[in-house]
Amino acid sequence: MLGLAKRLRARIFQASTSEVYGDPAIHPQPESYWGNVNPIGPRSCYDEGKRCAETLFFDYYRQHNLDIRVARIFNTYGPRMHPNDGRVVSNFIVQALKGEPITIYGEGQQTRSFCYVDDLIDGIVRFVDAEPGFAGPINLGNPSEFTIRELAQQVLDIVGEKSKLVFCPLPADDPTQRKPDIALAREKLGWEPRVKLEEGLKKTVSYFEDLLLEGE
Ligand code: UDP
Repeated sequence: MLGLAKRLRARIFQASTSEVYGDPAIHPQPESYWGNVNPIGPRSCYDEGKRCAETLFFDYYRQHNLDIRVARIFNTYGPRMHPNDGRVVSNFIVQALKGEPITIYGEGQQTRSFCYVDDLIDGIVRFVDAEPGFAGPINLGNPSEFTIRELAQQVLDIVGEKSKLVFCPLPADDPTQRKPDIALAREKLGWEPRVKLEEGLKKTVSYFEDLLLEGE
């Protein structure tokens, strides 16, 4: 894709990830942080794959002056997630709607910061439309941080279910904390997320309610 963009002199966007920070020792994570990634663990192919892609993007930027844009996307959720994609927001909502137990991995004290999809899209569009020469990398995510237990509680409150929590083994190398520093996005793009977790979860619950009804 980089070769194609070079030949066509096209602008090219990489949807990178907060996973480049691994299990971060610095909190919240600014773009200048190099990360703490296990190179041989079970999630390394994703983390290192995205890191390698960032490297290639910046090589093309330096060597060929290609107009690249690299955004590091933090946890994002919203309508149209796949019900079985295994991520925490979709899992918890589908479990709560079906009255099934909520699967907490580990103690649920690990944190994530969840960005509603419309906010993310707005950030991406602003970034790719920004002036040439601003390559990033730039963090796009919502800096409001929650433990996984807190997320479970919010989902249950919205759905109005009293599902019990079941505690499952924590996957290897699961980051213990994650929260974006979005000072750069604020400064360069005038961007910050607007949708609070509760509001975004309500919209997502309503999407999954309709989806599950259709499947009945
Ligand atoms: N998680 C959980 N229960 C689930 C799915 C995920 O407790 O049913 C936890 C998972 O261990 C992680 C967090 O929720 O700590 C976010 O997981 P997800 O896969 O959504 O995103 P990522 O780990 O890539 O941030």
